[in-house]
Amino acid sequence: MGEDALDKLRQAGQIARKAREEACRLIKEAALVIEICEAVEETIRLEGAKPAFPCNIGINEVAAHYTSPPGDQLRIPPRSVVKVDVGVSLDGYIADTAATVALAPELEQLSEAARIVLQEAVRVMRAGVPVSKIGLVIQGTVHKLGFKPIRNLTGHEIKRNKLHAGTTIPNVGGACPGKLEPGHIYAIEPFITTMRGAGEVVSAKLATIFRIESEKITSRKLREGEKRLAQYIIEKFDNLPYATRWIDNYERIKDVHEKMVKLGRIQQYPVLVERLGEPVAQAEHTVIVFEDRCEVIT
Ligand code: MN
Ligand code: MN
Repeated sequence: MGEDALDKLRQAGQIARKAREEACRLIKEAALVIEICEAVEETIRLEGAKPAFPCNIGINEVAAHYTSPPGDQLRIPPRSVVKVDVGVSLDGYIADTAATVALAPELEQLSEAARIVLQEAVRVMRAGVPVSKIGLVIQGTVHKLGFKPIRNLTGHEIKRNKLHAGTTIPNVGGACPGKLEPGHIYAIEPFITTMRGAGEVVSAKLATIFRIESEKITSRKLREGEKRLAQYIIEKFDNLPYATRWIDNYERIKDVHEKMVKLGRIQQYPVLVERLGEPVAQAEHTVIVFEDRCEVIT
């Protein structure tokens, strides 16, 4: 990796960290979720970067993929555990980071455990380490702390302009191919739940985050309205995941959008919830791996 790329990555990491910390300060009982999402995304834009995906706010059993839809009235409930997941793209160099805020003392151990588990996983990262070893460290640490990992959510490699690329980083032990490579970038993101939880997430009916792949859309026969919407989305969001509240006058094209989602022309990311409804905590950092060490950029 060249110095320029390293520099950009570190900048993206700093912006992501700043946005994450801001979100954590804003997460308070009765706060409007849409105001937190918008504040975080505005911070990223003011720093000269783009959100790599809409700001995710996951409350209690919601593990991932919730962002406010247009006009969202959802408020942070009392005594909840709240995750914020932030992505920053700076000239295509991406940083991805998450943290959990507990609004009740009995949930603090859960959120603190996610933070400790992430720290322990990062500690073993350097070139040549099998990714299965990271899964083992995560699972072992989670169990030692008295919680359960979410086995069907994983960390991932990050490449330029590609948030999920190449190698998967498991959150549990067991067979998983691949080794950490020098100069590569990885997002490590343990998700954990209580011992009563299923330790897995399932898709809810609701989806609030979407994406169009330009290659897929150009090869399809679309109606005039669909074509216009697809072009608008591709121009504005550049193949990145987006929220419908980012679309100007969403109400006007809502029907077309919903139809394109239904037909699979627009990809949706359903909200992911713990299968038994137990609370979930998450912590995530983006890490650059070197021969004999690693560097957390977020
Ligand atoms: Mn993330
Ligand atoms: Mn991630």
